[in-house]
Amino acid sequence: MKYWIKEELKPPHGKVYIIKDRCKGCGFCIEFCPQGVLQESEEFNAKGYHPPKLVETDEKKCIGCGFCSLVCPEFAIYIEKEEEEKKEEKHADKVL
Ligand code: SF4
Ligand code: SF4
Repeated sequence: MKYWIKEELKPPHGKVYIIKDRCKGCGFCIEFCPQGVLQESEEFNAKGYHPPKLVETDEKKCIGCGFCSLVCPEFAIYIEKEEEEKKEEKHADKVL
């Protein structure tokens, strides 16, 4: 129909950043991630804890909800939403 706008709706995605040496291994981010994207790694950080890592097969399952960064007591994990990245890139293109 003429007045229907066809818009492709894609699920949101996020990119996870972990500052390993800040982590104290509490596991909150792993426990509360609604997508089960994170798991405990086997490596040790500078404090002697196991920081989280992405479950390799689930890397693209992150929906960028930011819940992991919200519950992290050490501010050791944060998210960038893919859409925001693209918007920033577009904005940067315009500025240049
Ligand atoms: S942003 Fe949400 S879905 Fe992504 S890793 Fe954090 S808690 Fe999980
Ligand atoms: S919530 Fe923060 S301190 Fe706790 S395991 Fe996750 S990254 Fe480490």
